[in-house]
Amino acid sequence: MNRPALVYADSSGRIFDFPELEMVGSSAQRWHRIQPEDWMPLPEGSDLFLLPDRFPVGYNPRKRQFEVLSRDPFDPSIPVQAVAAFMAPAHTQIFTAAYRSKPDARLLPLFSYTAVGWLNGRFVAAGLRIDSDERQDLRHFDPRQIERNARRRMDRESRNRLIRHLGKCAITYGCPAARNLFMNRWEAPLPTSPACNARCLGCISLQERTDLCATQDRISFVPTPDEICGVAIPHLEQAPRAVVSFGQGCEGEPLLQADTIRAAIAAMRRATGRGTVNLNTNGSLPARVAALCEAGLDSIRVSLNSARRDFYTAYFNPRGYTFEDVKASILSAKSNGAFASINYFVLPGFTDDVNEFQALCRLVDETHPDFIQMRNLNIDPEWYLKSIDFRPGKTLGIRHLITRLKENFPHLQLGYFNPCLDRTLA
Ligand code: SF4
Repeated sequence: MNRPALVYADSSGRIFDFPELEMVGSSAQRWHRIQPEDWMPLPEGSDLFLLPDRFPVGYNPRKRQFEVLSRDPFDPSIPVQAVAAFMAPAHTQIFTAAYRSKPDARLLPLFSYTAVGWLNGRFVAAGLRIDSDERQDLRHFDPRQIERNARRRMDRESRNRLIRHLGKCAITYGCPAARNLFMNRWEAPLPTSPACNARCLGCISLQERTDLCATQDRISFVPTPDEICGVAIPHLEQAPRAVVSFGQGCEGEPLLQADTIRAAIAAMRRATGRGTVNLNTNGSLPARVAALCEAGLDSIRVSLNSARRDFYTAYFNPRGYTFEDVKASILSAKSNGAFASINYFVLPGFTDDVNEFQALCRLVDETHPDFIQMRNLNIDPEWYLKSIDFRPGKTLGIRHLITRLKENFPHLQLGYFNPCLDRTLA
């Protein structure tokens, strides 16, 4: 059987394949031979990352053993490093990259590191497409058109600070949600909060460690309800499959700005009933969730790295709230008629751990979410697992986890994006 070959990079960053060794996947630092159903062509919009201070691991089918590649097989004088894929949106990883770290290895930046190989003239990755929605597919983004639209709107609405902030997100950071805003389609972002009541290890908008940088600046002001509506109402009124979402990567926790958001939602819903108003949140304040639902909020998405209290607390470092509050927020949304999603950070070896799966099933039974977004956890896997003090145990495999969830909860949808709930726009 033709299996993907190992890929590695030399010290200058050039990437090569080495057919003598097979691509290998990692599951909480346990190495696995890759099976045909585990790989897919590397989707467009994915990136390849070099992993400094880490030696790639391959499988030698002749010797039937895993092997660490520490020198370039074609020139042993050259050191090598491992390579990983940062998969495009809408894709869930099945295995992370397999490597052996040097004792003093530097921390990897806040991205996900999926196993990657080479087969039949192209890169393949150990992942699957979990959501068919194309809203963040690279082929839909024309950067020049988006920049023209963003600059025109920033000029036209120069007094709206939120438009200026999102213009920078679209042009500088390439945020897909901000880009779609300036293309008047699908899901648009509504960041509001400079503050947060958690201190996530992998926070992408604020990092206190000196050896880890946030991937985007956090918003520095709280927009007014008018500024929020200036962005949201035209989008809700015009965009195909319109969704506007509070709670973005470039902010803290939106529930801390509940009064502002409630006023904005009420104004949006006085203007139009079209589209979906969504809140991405850490779920810390269930009473505020109820108040926003009363004002017209249609859906919430609560982020979880784990369905187990101790691992949740070790990652989120909550300030003034508990895991019980998070569950209460999902229940609060459901009891107020809103659609509830879990933003489930996926890390092979942890997420498909048998005990984690059982805890997730208990949480679904208890809180009745409608949707689980299977999003890859953007963090250095070794550092994360050490930081939350996780001991690898028996695992299901990510694909089997997905199958079991569907069997156990036929009503539960699995995907990646906040759905547009407005049936008139389907
Ligand atoms: S809840 Fe969000 S903003 Fe707050 S620390 Fe975590 S990732 Fe950062």
